Amino acid sequence: MADLTPTPDHPGLHVTKPDPSTPATATAVCHCGATATATGDNQVRALVEGYTANHGPAHHRKSR
Ligand SMILES: [Zn+2]
Repeated sequence: MADLTPTPDHPGLHVTKPDPSTPATATAVCHCGATATATGDNQVRALVEGYTANHGPAHHRKSR
């Protein structure tokens, strides 16, 4: 599990949902320094959407 957790050295988005009765959890670390965590399916979905829209690959779509 530790290998999958994003860190500033290895930015990324990691979502876990061990089984259907357990709320999902997510950890996001962006190379710009932003970090976020979420617990619960709805919060995780919002985190994923926000990270995808504003961080990670989105940095390459904006500016430059
Ligand atoms: Zn970012």
